[in-house]
Amino acid sequence: MDTRLMDTLPSLSYIDDKKCDDEYAFVKALRMSGGDGANSYSANSRLQRRVLSMAQPVLVKNTKEMMMNLDFPTYIKVAELGCSSGQNTFVAISEIINTINVLCQQVNKNPPEIDCCLNDLPENDFNTAFKFVPLFNKEMTNKAPCFVYGAPGSFYSRLFSRNSLHFIHSSYALHFLSKVPEKLENNEGNVYITNSSPKSVYKAYLNQFQNDFTLFLRLRSEEIVSNGHMVLTFIGRNTLNDPLYRDCCHFWTLLSKSLCDLVFEGLVSKSKLDTFNMPFYDPNVHELKEVIRNEGSFEINELEAHRFELGHSNCDYYEEDGYEAGRNEANCIRVVTEPMLAAHFGEDIIDTLFDKYAHHVTQHANCRNKTSISHVLSLIKK
Ligand code: SAH
Repeated sequence: MDTRLMDTLPSLSYIDDKKCDDEYAFVKALRMSGGDGANSYSANSRLQRRVLSMAQPVLVKNTKEMMMNLDFPTYIKVAELGCSSGQNTFVAISEIINTINVLCQQVNKNPPEIDCCLNDLPENDFNTAFKFVPLFNKEMTNKAPCFVYGAPGSFYSRLFSRNSLHFIHSSYALHFLSKVPEKLENNEGNVYITNSSPKSVYKAYLNQFQNDFTLFLRLRSEEIVSNGHMVLTFIGRNTLNDPLYRDCCHFWTLLSKSLCDLVFEGLVSKSKLDTFNMPFYDPNVHELKEVIRNEGSFEINELEAHRFELGHSNCDYYEEDGYEAGRNEANCIRVVTEPMLAAHFGEDIIDTLFDKYAHHVTQHANCRNKTSISHVLSLIKK
C-alpha cells in the first residue's frame, strides 16, 4: 500500500476519538458551579471540606518531610490542582504554609518565600477563588512572603516548568477523567458503572483511568523536583472482588434513576440519556498501586482509605429532617454536575431533575451502606 496516501488520511483512532469528542461534548463543560449563591459549589462543598480535614495529618507530615528532605530551601513553589472556587481553595495551602512557618520557627531557620499556584480548568470561576486572597493573606501575616498565582489548564497536560515544584496537593479532583471512555456499550439507563453493567463497561472505565493517571504522574514527575512531595485525595472504592458492585444509594446510581424518571415523563429522550456518561472513576487500592508502580517515577509514602458517612457530611440535621437531608445531598451533586448536565440536556430540566434526586435520597435514608471511600495518597518523587 502507498504509505503517502495513508499519511493524508486521518487515522482510524483519530476518527474514533473525534466521534467520541463530539458525542461527549458536554465533558468540555466540566467545572463546579461558580459564584457564592445558594446553588454554588462554594456554598455546597461541606463534604469536600470534611475530606480536606481528614487528610490534614498526612498533609502536615508530608510538608515537614519535604522541608527536611530538601534541607530547608529558601524558596518553595506549591501547586493546588483542581482548586475550584470558594473557601476550600485555600484550606490546604494555608495548612502547608502554616506548617512550614511553625517548623522553621522550631528549628530556628528563616521561613522560605512561597509561590502558591492555583490550578483548575480554564472555565473554573477563578474570580470567586481570587476574592479569598485578601483573607488568606491576612491570616498569613508576619510570616514569609507568599504570592498567589492562577494556573488554568487541565492537569492532564503540562502546567508548570520543568523541576520547578516542591509540593503538589490535590483534593477530590483526580476521580475526574480527561474524557468519557470509548466503547461503553449495553449500559443503557446508567450514567456510570452499576451492578447491572456488563464487565466491558468496567474495563473501559479502568482503561481510561489507567491512561489518565499514568499521564498525570508522568507530567507531574517532569514538573516536581527530586524528593518533592505530592498529596492526593480522591474518591475510591474498597471492593476488591466484584468490580461492578456499587451501593444502591451510590450518587451516580441516584442520578441515573432521576434521569430515568425524566425519560419516563417524556422530558428527556432515551437516546439523550444513553449518550450521557460520567467522566469519573473510583479505583480500588490495587488498581491505584499498579498504575503508580508501572509508571515508576514516584514512591508511595502513605496510602490510606478513609470511610465516611455521606449523609452526615452533607447535612448537620440529617437525623431531624429527612427532606432537608435529601435536598442537601441533591445540592451537593448538583453543583458538581450542573454545567455538564445543562450542556447535554439543556438548563430547563435541572430543577426538576434535582427534585427527583432529593426524593430518591429520602428513599435511601435508612441504607446502611451510605458511605464513601476516599484514598489519601502521598508520593515522593524518586
Ligand atoms: N479541591 C476542591 C475542589 C474539588 S472539586 C475541594 O476540595 O473542594 C474538583 C475540581 O477539580 C473542580 O473544580 C474541577 O473543575 C477540577 N478538575 C476536574 N478535572 C480537572 C482537570 N483535568 N484539570 C484541572 N482541574 C480539574
